[in-house]
Amino acid sequence: MDTLLKSLNPNQLAAVEYTDGPELIIAGAGSGKTRVLTYKIAYLLQKGLAPWSILALTFTNKAAREMKSRIADLVGEERARCLNMGTFHSVFLRILRAEAEAVGLERNFSIYDDSDSRAVVNSIIKELKLDDKQYKASSVLGRIGAAKNSLVTPDVYMSDPHLAERDKVSGMPKVGQIYALYAARCKAANAVDFDDMLLFTYKLFADNPQIAQKYAERFSYVLVDEYQDTNYAQQSILTLLTKERRNICVVGDDAQSIYAFRGANIDNILKFQNIYEGARLFKLEQNYRSTQTIVKAANSVIINNQRQIRKDVYSENGDGEKVRLNITYSDKEEASVVCNEIRRLHNRYGVAYGDIAVLYRTNAQSRLFEEEFRRQDTPYHIYGGMSFYQHKEIKDVIAYFRLVANPNDEEALKRVINYPKRGIGDTTVSKLIAASRDCNVCLWNVVGNPSMYNAGVSAATEKKVVGFYCMMDEFIRDNNTTDAYVLGKAILEKSGLKQELAADKSMEGVERQDNIEEFMSGLHDFVDTKREEGYEDEVYIANFLQEVALLTDSDEENSDDVSSNERVSLMTIHASKGLEFNSVFVVGLEENIFPSPRSSSSLRELEEERRLLYVAITRAEQRCFLSCAKSRYQYGSMMFNEPSRFLKEIDKQYLIVEGNVGGFQSPAQQYSQRPESPLRSSHQSSAPSGFRRISTATSQYRQMSTTPQRTQSDLSAKQTIHVGARVEHQRFGIGSVIAVEGVGENEKATIEFQNAGTKTLLMKFARLTIL
Ligand code: ATP
Ligand code: MG
Repeated sequence: MDTLLKSLNPNQLAAVEYTDGPELIIAGAGSGKTRVLTYKIAYLLQKGLAPWSILALTFTNKAAREMKSRIADLVGEERARCLNMGTFHSVFLRILRAEAEAVGLERNFSIYDDSDSRAVVNSIIKELKLDDKQYKASSVLGRIGAAKNSLVTPDVYMSDPHLAERDKVSGMPKVGQIYALYAARCKAANAVDFDDMLLFTYKLFADNPQIAQKYAERFSYVLVDEYQDTNYAQQSILTLLTKERRNICVVGDDAQSIYAFRGANIDNILKFQNIYEGARLFKLEQNYRSTQTIVKAANSVIINNQRQIRKDVYSENGDGEKVRLNITYSDKEEASVVCNEIRRLHNRYGVAYGDIAVLYRTNAQSRLFEEEFRRQDTPYHIYGGMSFYQHKEIKDVIAYFRLVANPNDEEALKRVINYPKRGIGDTTVSKLIAASRDCNVCLWNVVGNPSMYNAGVSAATEKKVVGFYCMMDEFIRDNNTTDAYVLGKAILEKSGLKQELAADKSMEGVERQDNIEEFMSGLHDFVDTKREEGYEDEVYIANFLQEVALLTDSDEENSDDVSSNERVSLMTIHASKGLEFNSVFVVGLEENIFPSPRSSSSLRELEEERRLLYVAITRAEQRCFLSCAKSRYQYGSMMFNEPSRFLKEIDKQYLIVEGNVGGFQSPAQQYSQRPESPLRSSHQSSAPSGFRRISTATSQYRQMSTTPQRTQSDLSAKQTIHVGARVEHQRFGIGSVIAVEGVGENEKATIEFQNAGTKTLLMKFARLTIL
């Protein structure tokens, strides 16, 4: 009990000690919600509750493990071990196994993963003779999943006029029917999918009052973390379990509700007091995680949301450093500035790499950071996701590229010959492979002429195989004359990959498209940069593959040698929920990225984006860095996005703007300027003082805003560069010319850039402006 008193503030302690009924703890980020839950469980154990009678639900398995180990520290390993603790899915799966018969399952039921579910849905689509371009398995499954999370069974689905109308409008009027068949198939196969774990548990309790009673009695206390992100199904199960004893304690922060797209409903928090009449409300407002500056900066953002429960979150930690916003010339420079700063924090201030996180809005944004971290040999890991080049869709495109660069690459050929589907099934591929072994020729030759090698395929199949060969052969022939970007685009389109991905409107589908866009952006940048650097003969797919191979081959080195607490964590903001780091970098703060382009039309969605930024900033304990880039390869071409609208909401007194301040819409003078910018004193740069460089960048802004900016063609047409000239490059930022050689078409300048190192550029292609 002593430990409790010492490690909790009076409000937290009151929340822990209250055990007389339903309890709702609404509290700001970092105010000890998770800590209160942890201590409350320890407290209940100390009061004599049996560990197995306590049910604690967390958002991730990792959170459950951490909580358990904290409790073990407080009350001993043995008692902690028997707690019922885990995610909704893991806990309810255990219950379903025990009670399988009551919901018509056998105990040994299987769990279908996403690919199993897709296979079932695809076969149904085929049987119903529906167009598989119109009905994408993942889109259909998205709707089925949403229905399950709202406890909508197939019968209810099919009789709901709103759902019927929505499905009709979106060109998939048969989703209800597919859902019914899918549910029947799963049942016949004695299988459940992920969402069934909730739906079936609900049905178990709702249809079997005696079973519900048994569990309601067993769980004498139920506790839930991150309550703001629970969905309807989860809430309904909780209600069934606790409505009688009313021993439930939930903690949440409406300002951190970020899973609306998965059915979480911010109103759930508000409804709690309706479901549990007389529930006690506790508020915690003191943040223990972050400096005052970080808390105030985060508050100044979230205050712009209309839908929220007012809280006055404050910190009594020191003021700490200001939040720093760095505006870079390009996404590439952003990655190098962030990586430089991380190395500086590590080397100069001893911040462990494991105590640093880079947070981004979408998974695809990891690419540039991964590349830069590898280049600078800085240990990192992708938390809760996978490395950019490990994504299936990226591996698919790369397999096409590999085949184009080397038609003998059998693994690449096998991967793409029937993806996207072109009617060349596994049996055919096996026959082709057998023929290639028998005749001792490479598979590619057999594909070019199956009958010549007695592959034994039908004439119709042969036509498809040869069709594929001809398509690829055309790419192969262009391979040494067409640059990687142009050819890559053609491959995406003609292979059908692009259409295949575009037809999938599910969330995962959209993410896959984002990754492909990002891949194409990288490819475009690769080609432009090679040209500019004078390597016109290295702009081809083979050269690109070589570069990618270099970027990915040290994968193992990066993942195995160094334990995860010695590596910088790269992750989406969604994945960062509940975590904390000494230093946090929130990157890509631009319009069209954050807020996401898909959200800017609706106030509701914009507010969710704002909550995301709130979550991101409040992960930081000591330092928070924000960044945005003026130019970025996006959707395969160079884009010039405005800084995120949210940046303007951050109270100026907590913010320092540095870098290419001119890119920020408001006048530069309005922001406090940092006299020395460590972000800029990168190890790559040999220029002496960061101050001079930055103040120059600011004055350039003033100059540039009155005189129209010179363009690249102006420059190549009329200007020649001299040694000592200061230049601005679209991707590499500010630099000075240290050498010039050649004339006319062959004129080259060697430029020392502040962040991008020294580069020799062919003037004809250089994306430069003289300052
Ligand atoms: P989030 O909203 O991000 O989930 P939270 O409200 O769950 O945050 P915790 O993670 O429980 O907050 O606490 C944030 C940090 O503050 C943790 O490092 C925790 O140990 C610390 N902390 C919380 N309360 C206290 C306290 N009374 N004394 C000292 N440290 C505390
Ligand atoms: Mg928490």
